[in-house]
Amino acid sequence: MKMPKKHHKDLQDFRQNIHLSCKEWDKLGVQLKEYKERTYEVLEPGWCDKIYYTIYENLKLPCAFSFKNAKIDRTTGGPFLTVKCQCTECKTEIHLYSLTEPTADGIDFHVSTLDTRRLIHIKKRQLRGDRRKQVAEELKGKSAYLWQREAAHKRMNFGDNKPADLYSSEVLRKVMQETIEKELGLKSGDNPIISLFKVAQSPEYAGSIREICLYKPFIMYWLPEQIALYNLWLKNDKIGSISIDATGSITKPLQTADGSKSIIYLYQAVTNYNDKIFPLFQMISGKHDANTLCYWIREWLRSGAKIPKEVITDYSMALLIASSLAFNQRSLQNYLDECFHQIFSSSTYLERMCLLRIDIAHLIKMITRWPCFSKD
Ligand SMILES: [Zn+2]
Repeated sequence: MKMPKKHHKDLQDFRQNIHLSCKEWDKLGVQLKEYKERTYEVLEPGWCDKIYYTIYENLKLPCAFSFKNAKIDRTTGGPFLTVKCQCTECKTEIHLYSLTEPTADGIDFHVSTLDTRRLIHIKKRQLRGDRRKQVAEELKGKSAYLWQREAAHKRMNFGDNKPADLYSSEVLRKVMQETIEKELGLKSGDNPIISLFKVAQSPEYAGSIREICLYKPFIMYWLPEQIALYNLWLKNDKIGSISIDATGSITKPLQTADGSKSIIYLYQAVTNYNDKIFPLFQMISGKHDANTLCYWIREWLRSGAKIPKEVITDYSMALLIASSLAFNQRSLQNYLDECFHQIFSSSTYLERMCLLRIDIAHLIKMITRWPCFSKD
């Protein structure tokens, strides 16, 4: 068998035998295929990924091999199986062939290629077909990073090249997105807000997605279970304190029709229960004004939640105004006047209000930014 052409002059010839047990050969599988009134034996779909796996396990080459064909021949007296492929990055070819048919002991592959183990490779093999479905299954309930770590731990020893089917985080996240879209009955590339609108109409999510706005989008969502558990907790908790905060770190800005970008925040209300964070109600929103936030909180109350005894926010004026309007039915100024009046009033009567508090961490951060502390 000829050695492959050299695209890199320095590379040495590399020949090795790979033995496949009967069980491994059966997994590869052979099927019959009709072409121009003749019947051929071919390897079953998915053979490229399985043969690549075997090549890496035995030779530890970093090449992202792309397979051309696999010929099975039982009649002409030539090799029983011939497989040709080439690395998509360094263009090195690899020839695999088995001179004889498999026996009860399995089958021997003779491999001839070039030693690329010291060549740095970046490209990965494409993730397609059955292998993509298999990886999608493996990714359920774990992050792309964890999948990579587990695959590396299982297949690599210290100093080994990374296998070309240790897929990048981007590819794995795309697979996860496809799985979620399939489960939700969505198509890839759909507008995310329209997709959510479709999801909201399905009976499964009808009780949890409460409100969707298309222009300057916002989505309010919470489960009936969250309301029931919150009310139960509030009844039994002495302090009854909830926290509301926002983060822009988990959502990409949305491109609007006029080409500008809409900054999206996740607004989240939580409380502490047994030293764990208990989420209460949520909104993903491109609108950050007090009016929208007040509407969000009022919708939560209207859906059955009781007014908490205390609300903790950061120094966001919009959140403070919205909390005062929604929980105390008065403007923030009126709330502050009322607090002042109650503190200095000689009357023993105290009107029950939801206490608005500012998180000490946010307060300290704001004070450290005062010019008097930043000047030399
Ligand atoms: Zn290569």
